[in-house]
Amino acid sequence: MNYYQQHREQFLEGLKTFLRIPSISTSPEHTGDVRRAAEFVAGELRAAGLDNVELLERPGRNPLVYADWLKAAGKPTLLFYGHYDVQPPDPLDEWTSPPFEPEVRNGNIYARGSSDDKGQTYILIKAVEGYLATHGKLPVNVRFLIEGEEEVGGEHIEEYVSQRPARLKSDCAIVCDTEMFAPDLPTICVGLRGIVYGEIHVQSSDHDLHSGVYGGAAPNAIQAAAEIICALKDRQGRIHIPGFTDSVQLPSEEEKTAWARLPFNEEEYRVKEVGSTELTGEPGYSVFDRTWARPTFEVHGIRGGFTGDGAKTVIPARAVIKVSTRLVPNQKPAEVIEQLKAAVKAATPKGCTAEFRTVHGAEASLTDPKNPFVQAAARSLAQSFGSETVYIRSGGSIPVVGLFDRYLGIPSVLMGFGLPDDNLHAPNEKFHLPNFYRGIEAVAGYLEALGNT
Ligand SMILES: [Zn+2]
Repeated sequence: MNYYQQHREQFLEGLKTFLRIPSISTSPEHTGDVRRAAEFVAGELRAAGLDNVELLERPGRNPLVYADWLKAAGKPTLLFYGHYDVQPPDPLDEWTSPPFEPEVRNGNIYARGSSDDKGQTYILIKAVEGYLATHGKLPVNVRFLIEGEEEVGGEHIEEYVSQRPARLKSDCAIVCDTEMFAPDLPTICVGLRGIVYGEIHVQSSDHDLHSGVYGGAAPNAIQAAAEIICALKDRQGRIHIPGFTDSVQLPSEEEKTAWARLPFNEEEYRVKEVGSTELTGEPGYSVFDRTWARPTFEVHGIRGGFTGDGAKTVIPARAVIKVSTRLVPNQKPAEVIEQLKAAVKAATPKGCTAEFRTVHGAEASLTDPKNPFVQAAARSLAQSFGSETVYIRSGGSIPVVGLFDRYLGIPSVLMGFGLPDDNLHAPNEKFHLPNFYRGIEAVAGYLEALGNT
């Protein structure tokens, strides 16, 4: 038995400790927990035998955790990326076991952050730990940069990467924050969508009004909010933001052919993953097109009016709509923001004002599957999982990939071990434990393979 097989129990216990920390980056009341999670990661990196472990601090920001091991002269340098912050767990009553009390059921570990991204970050740390424990040294150079703001826009890492590129000099980034296409199907993600997230602030009068006295004559902010939403995306799923899709780059025929070979059952996807009675979206496009290669417009929440129990007959004066658009290659966030502002203005009904305010934005990205670091990763994954590696895209956004490209000039290998039904950002998030253990060995095998080239 090798180190990895001998230490499975310790790996699981360590992961549970990590998962018990409610490091919810969007909630100010969890600032202390976010810091505790950063300190936990630093402690693990130190124990694994890495050098120069430190928390990179900046006032008002969550710490970045840095570490390196740079003693493999003449060998490539990898930059390992993950994040220790998590999404809020609500709605709490839909969890079978509490989100921050990890529980193992049917070979899965259930907890917020288990798959996104603490479990995957932990894979990287344990792979290096095992290699150092076994060989006393690494076959390549590595740096770790683990952030705590991925779920809230990642401003700190953007500042750091853009201002200190020399300190992060590497040949390739390894981003462990994506999923496998199917169980037992090792997967490398070569495309990510970008995002523009924002709020639409709607106002209809300068104060709330009585619906009996003024109803019929006064404009209503929530009615206006609904009209704006429906104007931006229609019942067929077509987006009506002028200019929005003009620059969209279509996937190549080669890529589309590869997608067509992936094992995929639309009906099963609808029932098991989406859980709705129908799939929706732009007519004339496949599910892969709609989720990987087409931009979106989605509403995340509406605030305003009376939402308590009972009845209050109010005409709300204000409403806030939280929305985002997922972007695909060639769409520029700055341009999309201007397009959204103009579309919201044009869709605002009479008697109301509405304004789009940006929260954060990031560009889409594409990696060449023929890149040698991608190819080596594909071989290591195939070996650990005993099956040919497939290339997919992801509908999600990992803005750091764009940062590494822009400021460090390096490609990112998106090697993920989550599964499509892991319930990311939803109740009962889980991580498949066989993938956790195989992932650790696959990353170790990748280090070995790169050291031999
Ligand atoms: Zn993530």
